[in-house]
Amino acid sequence: MSDHDPTAGLDLLGEDTRFAILRELAEHQREHPDSRALPFAELRKRVGRRDAGNFNYHLKRLRDRFVESTEDGYRLTYLGMVAYGRLAAGTYAPHDTIGPAELDADCPICGQGMTATYEDCILTVSCPDGHVVPQNFLPPAATTDRDLSDLLDVAALGLLQDAEAALSGVCTFCDGPVSLALTETDADTGWASHAYAGNCRSCGVLFRLSAPAAALVEPAAAAFCARHGANPRAGFSELLTALGNAETVASGTDPPSSTVVVRFGEESVRVRVTAEGVDHVPTPDS
Ligand SMILES: [Zn+2]
Ligand SMILES: [Zn+2]
Repeated sequence: MSDHDPTAGLDLLGEDTRFAILRELAEHQREHPDSRALPFAELRKRVGRRDAGNFNYHLKRLRDRFVESTEDGYRLTYLGMVAYGRLAAGTYAPHDTIGPAELDADCPICGQGMTATYEDCILTVSCPDGHVVPQNFLPPAATTDRDLSDLLDVAALGLLQDAEAALSGVCTFCDGPVSLALTETDADTGWASHAYAGNCRSCGVLFRLSAPAAALVEPAAAAFCARHGANPRAGFSELLTALGNAETVASGTDPPSSTVVVRFGEESVRVRVTAEGVDHVPTPDS
């Protein structure tokens, strides 16, 4: 785990007046992207603090790192924008559950219909047999102007991005280093004989990625699926179609490996999944 202290940031930005300063500057910036700065008096009025000394004290604590002073007034620094965006995502705020709703898509493993539910920041998609598409974390801000179908498309992109980053050794939650190992699964179907699993060495979050899902991250396989109308990043139904057309055709145990074929009609693409990563296997028909 990392040796920095995350609570220092929470204490600094979680205080009411300081949070309100970030919020007011962010709202002003959203409405006036070309003149982002707010004069001191206007900022204090928007934040609603009568005591100038107290307001000044809190503004000073944010200065330079999160808020900067310009000729036109105060504005967010880039770190200030990112920090507010992360706070505004509302991860720990209570919010409404969406669903469960039946999807117009079949389970890539057993072919039964699937159901989606968004609850407590997690989007879950599963079939009656409990085959679960990897759960996706989406903060409440993700629901802004989006319905469940839109959320599923955001989730598909997130799943692929998480997978790609983890395979490259990067945690999408904290950007810390990730180490994945390829291990045999105890799945009762031959669909996925192996899966990558591992932790972020900084925040500890657990990543798990079945071999067929990992194969879709391989650029040649992704391009092949896209040519057949199933770009895994384009939307959830495309991702499920691509997963449903993928199957494990060979696997080894020492060292662990798996060969995944994605088929559309007469055409196919072959990906080898090993501890080192995913590689396209050129074949005459790919
Ligand atoms: Zn299923
Ligand atoms: Zn992490």
